[in-house]
Amino acid sequence: MDLNLTESELQFRGELRAWLKESLPKEPIVSMGRSDADYWNKLRDWQNSLYEGGWAGITWPKEFGGRGTTPIEAAIFIEEMAAFDAPERVGVIGEGLVGPTIMAEGNDEQKEYFLPKILDGSHIWCQGFSEPNSGSDVASLATKAVREGDDFVVNGQKIWTSFAAVSDWCLLLVRTDKDAPKHKGISALLVDMKSEGVSVRPLKQMSGDSAFNEMFFTNVKVPAKNLIGALNDGWRITITMLMNERTNLGPATYIQFKKALAELIETMKHKSSGGKRLIDDPINRQKIAQIQMELEIFKLTSNRALSKITNNAVPGPEGSILKIFWSELNQRLVQAAMEILGDEAQLQEFENGAWAYRYLRSRGNTVEAGTSEIQRNIVAMRVLGLPRSY
Ligand SMILES: Cc1cc2nc3c(=O)[nH]c(=O)nc-3n(C[C@H](O)[C@H](O)[C@H](O)COP(=O)(O)OP(=O)(O)OC[C@H]3O[C@@H](n4cnc5c(N)ncnc54)[C@H](O)[C@@H]3O)c2cc1C
Repeated sequence: MDLNLTESELQFRGELRAWLKESLPKEPIVSMGRSDADYWNKLRDWQNSLYEGGWAGITWPKEFGGRGTTPIEAAIFIEEMAAFDAPERVGVIGEGLVGPTIMAEGNDEQKEYFLPKILDGSHIWCQGFSEPNSGSDVASLATKAVREGDDFVVNGQKIWTSFAAVSDWCLLLVRTDKDAPKHKGISALLVDMKSEGVSVRPLKQMSGDSAFNEMFFTNVKVPAKNLIGALNDGWRITITMLMNERTNLGPATYIQFKKALAELIETMKHKSSGGKRLIDDPINRQKIAQIQMELEIFKLTSNRALSKITNNAVPGPEGSILKIFWSELNQRLVQAAMEILGDEAQLQEFENGAWAYRYLRSRGNTVEAGTSEIQRNIVAMRVLGLPRSY
């Protein structure tokens, strides 16, 4: 594995840095809460600038409006966006999960209609997989779709759906054959969130955010032409999407964690406890050194996964190793910060509530995109080849 960037990768990074310096919004885009329409409109505009500048969907093949970048260039892109504190991208589910699925499984009409609208920010997508009784075991989902004439009629409930309250479309998993074995009776539908019978209820999280939602479907008519892939072949599509999700969530985190650690060290230089600067306490220093080492291990593990994807072209079960590592590392990082900074760090008044938010939000990291237990099962069986224990 050669970790030095090639001439063309350096050129790619240079072009991107120049574009970001020129095109980043002059003012930070700040949210007044997840239902703040102004925030989402500004994020759509940002997505549109990325599109206009040729920086949307960069991993997509050129024929679909992307740049056809290599996995290493894609990682450079994500790292630079994080390093420049670029605004959140509304297109993440569309670009990272739904678009690649439509490219691989969709028909020409679906590709023509949906793909450009993902790239230019016209359509925000959400991912309707989890249900109240189907999380880790997604294949047990109960939301059903029955074919009636030219439509599927959908009834059921989804939960934890990120972005649903602001989404235009949803990639929805539904049961289309209740008599088939559970993995064989699932289909994937592209559902217009404005359809009659769709209702969304934001869920308030302990961090104060409402980043995810409950979705209810009551006799929702979905045109049969919005079936993606073959009827009852939705499980294969689900697996591809989940592997992309686990790999996609990782790369930006190294830079974000590094920045959080740098912020913590800065605060430790200025804050004292018992007449001593926090940075001068040997136990605090040991905690920082531990996190610093783990961050570097994370970086090296990411590079190893990257070189594997570069060779194999598709993300594999190794994505689970990275998912476990970054999600649990973030929890250790914020735990260390809370211990070092003391009770005050739990307050909204302390550094604008940044540490309190990070701490509370990090708990979801080991649940979203597959829990740590599920990831460990995948690593045991599909990476290490161990037998099932049950
Ligand atoms: C921030 C966040 C965003 C999310 N966004 C979305 C989204 O956009 N769309 C969407 O569809 N879902 C989303 N989810 C839901 C997420 O995918 C599920 O929460 C997750 O899959 C776990 O499902 P569950 O909550 O039903 O827990 P369960 O599956 O009920 O698990 C409960 C506990 O049992 C353990 N467990 C379950 N099965 C096994 C097993 N076989 N072996 C060992 N342990 C096991 C789990 O690890 C967990 O600790 C999001 C979740 C979070 C936290």
